[in-house]
Amino acid sequence: MSLPPRLARGLRSARTWIALGILAPLGMLVVSGVMLLDLRQDAWDKAGQTSRNLLQVIERDIARNVELIDLTLLAVQDNLRAPGLAKLDASMRQLVLFDRAATAKDLGVLFVLDENGDIVEDAAVSPPRKGNYADRDYFQAHKANRHLGLFIGRPIVSRLTGERMVNFTRRIDKSDGSFGGLVLGSLKLTYLGRLFDQIGLGRDGAINLYLKDGTRITRHPFLEADVGVNIAGSRTFDRFAREGTGAFVEISVRDGVRRLYTFTRVGELPLILNVALSVDEVEAGWRTKAAVIGSVVLVLCGLTVGLSLLFGRELRRRAAMQAELARLSETDTLTGLANRRRFEEAYARACADAGRTGRPLSLLVVDADHFKRYNDRYGHAVGDEVLKALARCLSASVHRPEDLACRVGGEEFVLLLPNTDRAGARWAAGEVHAQVSGLFVPSASIGAGAVTVSIGSATGVADAADLYGRADAALYEAKAGGRNRTCYAPFCGDAAGKVPALRLA
Ligand code: GH3
Ligand code: MG
Ligand code: MG
Repeated sequence: MSLPPRLARGLRSARTWIALGILAPLGMLVVSGVMLLDLRQDAWDKAGQTSRNLLQVIERDIARNVELIDLTLLAVQDNLRAPGLAKLDASMRQLVLFDRAATAKDLGVLFVLDENGDIVEDAAVSPPRKGNYADRDYFQAHKANRHLGLFIGRPIVSRLTGERMVNFTRRIDKSDGSFGGLVLGSLKLTYLGRLFDQIGLGRDGAINLYLKDGTRITRHPFLEADVGVNIAGSRTFDRFAREGTGAFVEISVRDGVRRLYTFTRVGELPLILNVALSVDEVEAGWRTKAAVIGSVVLVLCGLTVGLSLLFGRELRRRAAMQAELARLSETDTLTGLANRRRFEEAYARACADAGRTGRPLSLLVVDADHFKRYNDRYGHAVGDEVLKALARCLSASVHRPEDLACRVGGEEFVLLLPNTDRAGARWAAGEVHAQVSGLFVPSASIGAGAVTVSIGSATGVADAADLYGRADAALYEAKAGGRNRTCYAPFCGDAAGKVPALRLA
């Protein structure tokens, strides 16, 4: 099956292949770029989903434990109001007050403090351990404000056990509404450590729990120095506090690592929890893939461009070679004039044009006179020189681009003159004789005027196809008439017949 001509021409063109060689890699680059962006988005989606899931699980666990402690505090608050409690002895009172608290998980201490901050009831022992907590933030806060409800204090080191804890407190009101002390329950930070330790977040990943005033309760991985640090006013914490829940990428104020922060409030509590994944680690897998895919695509693109350029160059070289071969196949090697083949093509075309346009076509057949004698006298090489000089004379005799000078035989030349009437042909013939009269070959001492030519000229329109025969006949006539002259074939339909030969002086 043959291709449509336009397509076949396009496929042979070097430009088509160079354009394809650039467009195809561009296409490859765009497709792989889109694909890589898509993969990157997948990595981020996965990290976001993992962070949200983790956050939800941790948040629920912490909220449930805080709720348990709060229920314990509420129970103690209730029990304190039980009638006759004051009359019971110390150990009975401890049993009544703390009966539901003993099994609360990760509970550190559970006290009742009086209005001076002294321990008056202790869930662990009876009589209670000694201690005063009037200086603690929660004590001051409850004393100053009756309606705090559950208050979560800053993380502290227990004065009794030396362990790190967070205290949860509820105020006790006296019957007249004045400050009557606190119920205090504490949660050991080891509980949070245990909870977070089960989670793998990569080398630079972290989990943080903050009070809503910006105080860090704990961080995973755990560092003593991180506990109690207040980051209020930092860009990250501002967004946690303002937005309540969400996710964003920000540079950590703590260590300068860029992280994806996913954060939420813990239930209705004044606690903020976040899971932070290092951006580098989120993208690490994708970056490796991108590097491999990117390098392969770039190498392929480079190869495609390179091969297309080479192929294009080869096509150009072939086209140039073909053009040169075509030119050579239509050029006479000795004189550089158009050869017989080119003449025949041009003649057929000129005849068709003359027939179509009605414009006259003239043909001059030019033959060197007694040329054999030059060969015989000076040798073939000089004969060649004379032929080349004659070719130059013919070229110099015509000036229009459509005129064509050809060597059609040994010492026989033709001037094909489209759009030229008899007067034009006569003028051109005169030019040829004039040019040849000035021809000389110094190497062989052939002087000007020694070489002459005879010319047969014919002009026609509708009968242009027979022009050559008529010009040849006119040439024969010029030879017979004594040479060094032009004879004109009668014009088509010319009743006057032959035009008298033009004798040159
Ligand atoms: P006339 O005036 O009748 O044309 O005589 P003439 O000698 O020119 O014609 P003839 O046809 O007898 O001889 C043509 C000669 O041209 C024969 C040949 O030796 C010579 N010739 C043909 N081609 C070449 C060529 O390429 N180089 C050389 N040096 N001579 C050539
Ligand atoms: Mg001759
Ligand atoms: Mg001849």
